[in-house]
Amino acid sequence: MSDTTRVYSYSAVLMGSPILLKLFSHDEALAARVFRLIKQYEDLLTVNRAQSQVMDINHAAGQHPVSVSGPVYALIKCAKAASMLPDSAFNLAIGPLVKRWRIGFRGDTVPPMEDIVRLLALTNPEQVLLNDAEQSVYLTQPGVEIDLGAIAKGYIADRVRDFLRKEGVVQGLINLGGNVQTLGTPEGGWSIGLKKPFSTSGAMIGTLDIANKSVVTSGVYERFFEHNGQIYHHILDPRTGYPLNNELDSVTIISEDSIDGDIWTTLMYGMGVEKGCAALRARPDIEAIFVTKAKEVVLSSSHHYRFTLLDNNYRLTGSTV
Ligand code: FAD
Ligand code: MG
Repeated sequence: MSDTTRVYSYSAVLMGSPILLKLFSHDEALAARVFRLIKQYEDLLTVNRAQSQVMDINHAAGQHPVSVSGPVYALIKCAKAASMLPDSAFNLAIGPLVKRWRIGFRGDTVPPMEDIVRLLALTNPEQVLLNDAEQSVYLTQPGVEIDLGAIAKGYIADRVRDFLRKEGVVQGLINLGGNVQTLGTPEGGWSIGLKKPFSTSGAMIGTLDIANKSVVTSGVYERFFEHNGQIYHHILDPRTGYPLNNELDSVTIISEDSIDGDIWTTLMYGMGVEKGCAALRARPDIEAIFVTKAKEVVLSSSHHYRFTLLDNNYRLTGSTV
């Protein structure tokens, strides 16, 4: 294999997630700079440590606004806009519930109903006040907490793509634990695997062939625990405070920007297959693949990618709306 077609893979663990970078040149220094960039964003955005710019906002809840850097402000503004969409399942103020459930972290438990009810009252996205002039964020009540876990990896994947492009890289791929962003079209294109839910062997339902696109998957099988035979996963329903319970095992979004993929996986989770496909008719730039518990794979459309089914236990259908 000549050097021009060889793929070099670099990996790291950041944001509690396996990170994979693929380049077509052997360039450890560039890979190190990519991982440093991701780490810088993690340090600004994390809510899993006592200090970050987002934690500064959370610590000041009910006390005073906090001015933050341009990227953090822009991301919070975008997350608030997604939270304010009609009937949105996306909620940037979901933090108190995420912290209480601890799904994916040590100490995960089903909270008593009264805790859920109490914490739900602290998750109204309108309690996140933004001031463009000051670039500041104010949480209006003590106990309100921002959590960007459903959007930050998408945002960061886009920043990595921009960085690689600026460095003259024409073909590359970054996978931030399920958030894939790609650059260019290598020979044969990029082939991205769609994971089989709950498979422990890394089995795939199928593959997506894409170029210059992001592929983001969110699934109930990624972070969950079982209690009394019931699965509790990490995508919470902001209306009930419990994990979203519907027909879906996973949603994959194919889009230009990974931030859209990250937002829309959550929105689609809230809508389910039928409403989701209907909503996407107005957005030809956003395409979804729904994997249902009944082993159906539903494509809202497939104008910007090609899907190949590999697992015959699944039935492939197009959108019926
Ligand atoms: P998505 O479906 O995109 O998002 C689900 C996550 O969003 C949940 O885990 C929760 O955090 C939040 N959420 C839940 N319900 C909603 C909702 N209705 N609306 C909006 N948001 C919701 N993991 C670790 O184990 N250790 C770490 O130290 C760690 N640090 C991180 C630092 C950063 C900056 C980021 C972005 C993530 C980090 N994570 C860490 C992972 C994080 O906890 C989430 O699990 C991860 O972001 C989920 O991404 P996803 O694409 O799998 O799921
Ligand atoms: Mg998301």
